Amino acid sequence: MSEEILKAEHVKMYFPVRGTFGNIVNQVKAVDDVSLSLYKGETYGLVGETGCGKSTLGRVLIRLLSATEGTITYKGKDLLKAGDSEMRHLRRELQMVFQDPYTSLNPRMRAGDILTEVLKIQGIGDRDSRMAAALDVLGKVGLLPEHFYRFPHEFSGGQRQRIGLARALILNPELIICDEPVSALDVSVQSQIINLLLDMQEERGLTYLFISHDMSVIRYIADRVGVMYLGHLVEEGPVDELFAAPAHPYTQVLLSAVPSDNPHEKKERIILEGDLPSPIDPPEGCAFCTRCPYATEICRKERPERFQINEGHRVYCHLMK
Ligand code: SF4
Repeated sequence: MSEEILKAEHVKMYFPVRGTFGNIVNQVKAVDDVSLSLYKGETYGLVGETGCGKSTLGRVLIRLLSATEGTITYKGKDLLKAGDSEMRHLRRELQMVFQDPYTSLNPRMRAGDILTEVLKIQGIGDRDSRMAAALDVLGKVGLLPEHFYRFPHEFSGGQRQRIGLARALILNPELIICDEPVSALDVSVQSQIINLLLDMQEERGLTYLFISHDMSVIRYIADRVGVMYLGHLVEEGPVDELFAAPAHPYTQVLLSAVPSDNPHEKKERIILEGDLPSPIDPPEGCAFCTRCPYATEICRKERPERFQINEGHRVYCHLMK
């Protein structure tokens, strides 16, 4: 395994729920005690259904949101204790590509200004060098010099996502959180953006945390996968191993919905009963116990500990004891 660049331990992100008079009456447990590491040059795929906390976790890991509890270490530095000026400097290395390229780009700014502004905020270069850097990165993501002067609404969805990626790349980052970067795009355009991400990774040695609800996309792009359910990481492992032998009942459900590569193989889709519980009032024991077909008494009482199946493959489930 290569160098560990980011380590999150027991990270929690709780959002207050306020009552009529502004007092805190409850908490949304969006991320609840998640630990994971990211290694240089890898793509870590984070999967789970809508509302499981994966996008919140992505933001917390690069401190776009400040974790309620836990520690996050980036290259040996405690991210949660970094002051404003240190964080501004670290921001160069920690970038994000958002799901909806249209709403994440300022509609009143030309593409070139969106890119040069990132450098200006960081106090990098003068007007000419910033423009040269913007033109260079536009070329890298497959856009033309004339695109520099166009507004976001003049681009297609795929082109807008290329600008979103260019905006992340212009600072020459180490780690990019890609939050569902292709889910708003047509299928034909999705593969172009995914291949562009892979090309940039190879050229620059980038590390990605790639968030998606699409297991097929994750299988294609990721080296390792983490599965989230109701704010918890329930299984983590190398992509080939996790797809071949999912250990957690929830991972088995997700994978049963992925079409097989073999047209002769008959796959039975596992349909989950019930709804995702509210993160305001999650179950006491295992987060999945209200929907798990194997749940027993202990599942409803105790949260499962981490169980190591083998090198890098871990699961949180009482069945593994
Ligand atoms: Fe199911 Fe129990 Fe395992 Fe949770 S701990 S996934 S409820 S068997």
